[in-house]
Amino acid sequence: DHVANQIAAGEVVQRPASVVKELLENSIDAGATNIKLLLKDAGKALIQVIDNGKGMSETDARLSFERHATSKIRTAEDLFNLQTKGFRGEALASIAAIAHIELKTKLDLQELGTHIKIEGSEITLQEVVSTPTGTSLSVKNLFYNIPARRNFLKSNQVETRHIIDEFQRVALVHPTISFSLYHNDNEVYRLNASNLRQRIVAILGKKTNERLVPVNEDTDVVQLTGFVTKPEFVKKKRGEQFFFVNDRFIKNSYLNHAVNSAFEDLILPGNYPSYFLYLTVPPNTIDINIHPTKTEVKFDNEKVLYAIIRATVKHSLGQYNV
Ligand code: ADP
Ligand code: MG
Repeated sequence: DHVANQIAAGEVVQRPASVVKELLENSIDAGATNIKLLLKDAGKALIQVIDNGKGMSETDARLSFERHATSKIRTAEDLFNLQTKGFRGEALASIAAIAHIELKTKLDLQELGTHIKIEGSEITLQEVVSTPTGTSLSVKNLFYNIPARRNFLKSNQVETRHIIDEFQRVALVHPTISFSLYHNDNEVYRLNASNLRQRIVAILGKKTNERLVPVNEDTDVVQLTGFVTKPEFVKKKRGEQFFFVNDRFIKNSYLNHAVNSAFEDLILPGNYPSYFLYLTVPPNTIDINIHPTKTEVKFDNEKVLYAIIRATVKHSLGQYNV
């Protein structure tokens, strides 16, 4: 079973950034309004997420590391959404199979919380602990028992970049949650609870504020909202281009083209606008089931979406130009 766990774990956890994504999403699911991410050594030595969410009981804390121990599937509708969310109830079990885990958690109404340590999927310590309401989960020495995977990790610079990408994506979907990120005890981000515009500015810098053009459209097939940058602030490199569908970051080169093409007469070739576009579509019109850890999505009505995005962005840019 150890081997099975490790194989399954390799599917979910490709690199430190995968752990970061899963832990941040758990904190958000737990209703946290404040989430702190601490890293050591690009997450290779330590990934710790501290939240002020609802916490876990002693029993739930133990159970959370069992495979399929999700507390989030209750109805048939949830099961349907399973497809869109990926590895329900697998993340912590998978991580516990390939790292050293330390958990401290407490429910709001409890006086004392639970402290658990896990190595190789086995609980090696459990005790009562004094800890704030919420959860602190530390993942240490990722892939310590899979040397091939550990050696396969990229440089600290590259792994940190992946983590920051995940962190930014989550932060851009939840502007009303405070996030902070520390790497080797240095503060990298401190994002206060705010609105979307201020969150974008907090991530990309003060200058961004005057560069944003709001985009909003409401149709039968999609609700579209967000921002694009003004044509005079386009960049030579891609990167600050974000599509979110139903609150999940996605990559889609076809829709990316729709945005770029709305700028076609306004910018020189080889330049790219930044954008932060949020699409809300009926869940049954998308298919995220290509691979749960990947970010690609298939849309039923891709062509219609393309047309709507292009027209809306064009219109927004036109309004700003008057
Ligand atoms: P899933 O999120 O798909 O349910 P996970 O393996 O990520 O599966 O988590 C297992 C369970 O552990 C969750 O369903 C939740 O009940 C609990 N859990 C994990 N992280 C937290 C957290 N930060 N706060 C409260 N509960 C948590
Ligand atoms: Mg989860």
